[in-house]
Amino acid sequence: MKRIYLDHAATTKLDERVFEKMSPYFLEVYGNANSQHGFGRDAQKAVDEARDTIAKLIGAKPNEIYFTSGGTESDNWAIRGTVKALKNKGNHVIMSSIEHAAMLTTAKELEKEGVEVSLIGVDSEGFIDLNELKNAIRPTTVLISCMYANNEIGTIEPIAEIVKIAKEHGILVHTDAVQAMGAIDINVADLGVDMLSFSAHKFNGPKGVGALYIKNGIPMARLISGGHQERTRRGGTTNVPGVVGFAEALKLTKETMKEDTAYVASLRDRFISRVEEEIPFSKLNGARDTSKRLPSNADFSFEFIEGESILFSLDIDGIAVSSGSACSSGSLEPSHVLLAIGLSEEKAHGTIRFSFGKENTIEEVDYVVDTLKSTIQRLREMSPLFNLKGEIKNV
Ligand SMILES: *Cc1c(COP(=O)(O)O)cnc(C)c1O
Repeated sequence: MKRIYLDHAATTKLDERVFEKMSPYFLEVYGNANSQHGFGRDAQKAVDEARDTIAKLIGAKPNEIYFTSGGTESDNWAIRGTVKALKNKGNHVIMSSIEHAAMLTTAKELEKEGVEVSLIGVDSEGFIDLNELKNAIRPTTVLISCMYANNEIGTIEPIAEIVKIAKEHGILVHTDAVQAMGAIDINVADLGVDMLSFSAHKFNGPKGVGALYIKNGIPMARLISGGHQERTRRGGTTNVPGVVGFAEALKLTKETMKEDTAYVASLRDRFISRVEEEIPFSKLNGARDTSKRLPSNADFSFEFIEGESILFSLDIDGIAVSSGSACSSGSLEPSHVLLAIGLSEEKAHGTIRFSFGKENTIEEVDYVVDTLKSTIQRLREMSPLFNLKGEIKNV
């Protein structure tokens, strides 16, 4: 059976050229980058080159790039590091209500430790409410954090405007750009953020490696204590093959980003227009304006059925997608993002995220829409909710 991968927001396939580039750093250049012999120096040279490459590609200075184990660690560090370093200034943090769990769970933990957190609402398309944000600012606010683009509904947030508001009040700004990196041209210096999280496996790089950009001069405490790695700000032996692959993946992604994102957007747009035309009671979530939506994202709620049923049925047909629920402790919690944009629990449960990549084809898109159509028809015929609506039966 042909398998179709439409879950690029969860992770992507490693680019073979990245794999080739990484390979010698497992088998030949295996020294510890901190060792003072030739093996170590060779590894250190590769790490320095990777750091230079990444810095140049995002408009940072090399010593502003701190390698981490990925997006989750970078997010944890940004919030915890700031709160700790600025505890004499205040203990209040502001973030959007649709942040990734890496931010929201950390915020919840910090609340138990006495930190005050304000979560800012979003509108029905997922855009942060800038007035609410302004009104939430206190003299004790030490950090404003808002994701660059949402991983569930693809909405691209007005980061430049958020930076402007934060700067007027002398508050640090962090953005989780894990979804945005590779899809949007990001220059940290132009953007003016103080911290930015990104992760290699979301743009055809290896899993388990990412970075936090930290602007020079801002106060920031460590998250991981240990040796003198990352200018003593992040202990732990450097993942040399990982950072080499990270830099190569970002370089290759940026080289063809314009063409690739235009192609992926064309797949998404065909998918969206076919679903809207051919599948009744379906609603697109997230930004309608395609310039404010990730090129890879199409998130749909299908009324009267459970997203999980759709997901499992598509999986049997070899199609990989993601649902709008998170399986936590055996029960299905509706997504906080879908509730934040105003969906009922019932509609949130009937939501599926399709995220496209440059490896997908237009034939795959058509095949998926055809399969989805019959799957939804079949599931609705079995759905008591749907059958109660006598007048809309057999649509
Ligand atoms: C994937 C993702 C993360 C987590 O990154 P990992 O490298 O998988 O830890 C954080 N934020 C967003 C928006 C993501 O999409």
